[in-house]
Amino acid sequence: MRPARALIDLDALRHNYRLARACHGGRALAVVKANAYGHGAVACARALAGEADGFAVAFLEEALALREAGIAGPILLLEGVFAAAELDAVAHHDLWIVVHHAAQLEMIEASQPERPLHAWLKVNSGMNRAGFLPAELRAAWQRLRGCGKVAEITLMTHFARADEPQVIATEEQIAAFDAATCELSGPRSLANSGAVLGWPAAHRDWARPGIMLYGADPMPGEGHGLRPVMTLESAVMAVRMLEPGAPLGYGARFHADRPTRVGLVAMGYADGYPRSAPDGTPVTVDGVPTRLIGRVSMDMLTIDLTPVPGAGLGSRVELWGPSVPVNRVAEAAGTIAYELLCNVKRVRFEYRGGG
Ligand SMILES: *Cc1c(COP(=O)(O)O)cnc(C)c1O
Repeated sequence: MRPARALIDLDALRHNYRLARACHGGRALAVVKANAYGHGAVACARALAGEADGFAVAFLEEALALREAGIAGPILLLEGVFAAAELDAVAHHDLWIVVHHAAQLEMIEASQPERPLHAWLKVNSGMNRAGFLPAELRAAWQRLRGCGKVAEITLMTHFARADEPQVIATEEQIAAFDAATCELSGPRSLANSGAVLGWPAAHRDWARPGIMLYGADPMPGEGHGLRPVMTLESAVMAVRMLEPGAPLGYGARFHADRPTRVGLVAMGYADGYPRSAPDGTPVTVDGVPTRLIGRVSMDMLTIDLTPVPGAGLGSRVELWGPSVPVNRVAEAAGTIAYELLCNVKRVRFEYRGGG
């Protein structure tokens, strides 16, 4: 059997959720959109079901998959609904919806839900991606209040730069949110992971942590005690020596500058390992740090075994996990941990610490 696998540590997931909730105070929706950032939404939601105050996903079908798996309790649709017909399922399955656009308000006004809806009214406090402008907010809130279809309104916003502690944008967004909402009642929710960890002024009734649950720290420094949830690993499947000057792999991107012992590893970009990873991207072999060399192929990649003379066929290779922070791989590859984690596929998923 091909040794490529993603080990998912559900104890670490619970540890990170508790840390997020305690750091923020109040309640926390565990964000499990995009298949729990690639970790398996049903398994992650089940692991958190005993303690999470609720979950957040992007859209209806993601929520229905959780309900079908027996996940009870609040589930928020972060994009809200795309068509009026979805509101029947929203009410039937007791889901919560973000309302970020006038068209969604009209759908709610025209709906006949079988029970009152729970709406999260989104303020555009400066990100300018989704949400009602401060000047439009009061009217939107009054329409939701007055339409007779909505039982509870939570006020929310989302930050563009919460993971940048040195810039003023987040403080400006908090101030814009507070000014827009000061006369409106209802619970508040501002904080994604970056704001949970870095912006206490954004801590209100509900947090919405995502990436931190999976142990990838969105803030520089990584000093927050998060534990990585996914270990992406495989094994050495062949070993060869390269003489100085010999090329390696597609495009001959890498040339040996000294006798180089190369390990061929069963992991490629079809598994989600980034093709953009340059020579020098960190990996460990049997726990010893070394580096990627040569271009990543669809099914395989190559690493430098010269610093690990004891390694050979079958040696364990960690691509990211406890000994190789996924943030370091993302940085080397010119992307972010979110994208790497979401992209993992084809490998076997093995869960530890369930129940
Ligand atoms: C994805 C998402 C989150 C979680 O963000 P992280 O940076 O992963 O913590 C929170 N709120 C909204 C609206 C989102 O779309």
